[in-house]
Amino acid sequence: MSDSAETLHVLIVDDEQDIREGSERILTRMGFNISKATNGQEALDLFKNKRADIVLLDLKMPGMDGMEVLEKIRSIDDSTIVIVITGYATVETAIMAMKQGAYDFIPKPFEPDQLRMVVNRASEKVLLKMAAEKLDRERQRTLLDLGTEKSRIRTIIESLPNGVLVTNTLSQVVLMNPAFRQLMGFDNSHPMGENIQAYFPDEDLCKLIMEISQGRHIDFEDIPEYEFSISKNQQFMIKGRPVLGQKNECLGAVVTMVDITALKLFDQLKSEFVAKVSHELRSPLSTIHEQLAVVLSDMMEIAPETDKKILGRAKEKTHSLISLIGDLLDLSRIEEGVICKEPEPVQIDALLKSIIAFLRDKADAKQQSLTLEILDDHPPEVLADPLALESIFGNLITNAINYTPENGNIHVKVAVAGINIKIEISDNGFGIEDKHLDKIFERFYRAKNDQTRYITGTGLGLPIVKELVQSLGGFVDVESTFGKGSTFTVLLPVALST
Ligand code: ADP
Repeated sequence: MSDSAETLHVLIVDDEQDIREGSERILTRMGFNISKATNGQEALDLFKNKRADIVLLDLKMPGMDGMEVLEKIRSIDDSTIVIVITGYATVETAIMAMKQGAYDFIPKPFEPDQLRMVVNRASEKVLLKMAAEKLDRERQRTLLDLGTEKSRIRTIIESLPNGVLVTNTLSQVVLMNPAFRQLMGFDNSHPMGENIQAYFPDEDLCKLIMEISQGRHIDFEDIPEYEFSISKNQQFMIKGRPVLGQKNECLGAVVTMVDITALKLFDQLKSEFVAKVSHELRSPLSTIHEQLAVVLSDMMEIAPETDKKILGRAKEKTHSLISLIGDLLDLSRIEEGVICKEPEPVQIDALLKSIIAFLRDKADAKQQSLTLEILDDHPPEVLADPLALESIFGNLITNAINYTPENGNIHVKVAVAGINIKIEISDNGFGIEDKHLDKIFERFYRAKNDQTRYITGTGLGLPIVKELVQSLGGFVDVESTFGKGSTFTVLLPVALST
């Protein structure tokens, strides 16, 4: 018998003491809880007070007879299992009792095994019924939970300020929230169920969403954000992600849409403001710088050392300010797309030679070697604005010189790598600590330590390099070991020969 059977409660109703006590002994050993009644009325009183799971009921008792007790018990709780006990003479009554809802019967006199078998069978039925009821309650609860969860999620999606659209694997739209309809200017009757192309008038965007819906971007990292506009003064940022099932299979795509019109305008105003202020500051600062240089050279012979030091510092500071302004203007021009406007085929080896020649004095001043190695005799041309390339490699080689101590080595290597040309600028200088590596391409970030603290800079060189390389369809990365040196690698697509 299972453990839970121990909790079942059996009521024995019989006017014969031997039967009551004999049955109690057997059933107690089987693990049941027992109560006993000597007549029908007592049995009913007990039953009303505490339900029994199984009732063993003698049909022939003085006073209220078993049939009447059976009827009353069943009218109080018809799930109770009643087993009737009856003498040979009343087998027919027993059959009648079965018709009235009794579960089984035991003829008197009975062997302990007979009682065990019948009660065991009844208890199994009770336990099965209990298990089924429990399962049903759990199922109801899960359904209820699911129901509330579903409506909760729906309410959240409906009230999101950002547009949300969901597709299935066939790229058909299965859900749009009110914000999406409003951003796209659709009314409430705009139908769902059509292909994504019916909702976005942008071919590339639709292609991307179709690819995501078909499960071609399970690893989300490679999904680009997409900017798109339906009119001149409304711009949106779109992000698509696959909806994954339990086995990581793609079920469709979820697309979120944010109105970035105000942000774009703000960004443009900021760039214009920075460009304007920088422009206005550049001429007076250059004049101050030049005049300081003149004054300094005039008083070279006569002025006291301290005055020369003060003026020298002022000249240095104005020079830093002029570089900062130059970098800010460069960044504004890149943002406006002015710098890379006119791409032309450029022979990268020749361009690098001229940049190195220009920077040679700077390296010589620190007794550094500055070498160029070209692995292919005639490396293919790169399609780019030469000014952009000058800025990229000018910045990287200047950094290598600046962040390498005296007597160090700076080496520039050019090689063809598939459809790209690879340029590596290596130095054996101070190197960069790991914690700074992923931040040095951010604007104004400078990784300072005891050795580099006194090197002046703006923290804008590498952001400029990154923006320019990206606008040329290329890639820039860095590897560095602190205390040993750094290698910046630039990959640029080669110009396709026509
Ligand atoms: P800046 O040189 O004006 O500070 P950059 O954006 O060019 O700004 O560089 C950002 C930071 O990256 C520098 O401050 C420096 O800490 C680090 N860095 C750049 N190039 C090198 C290099 N070749 N070796 C060591 N550190 C470098």
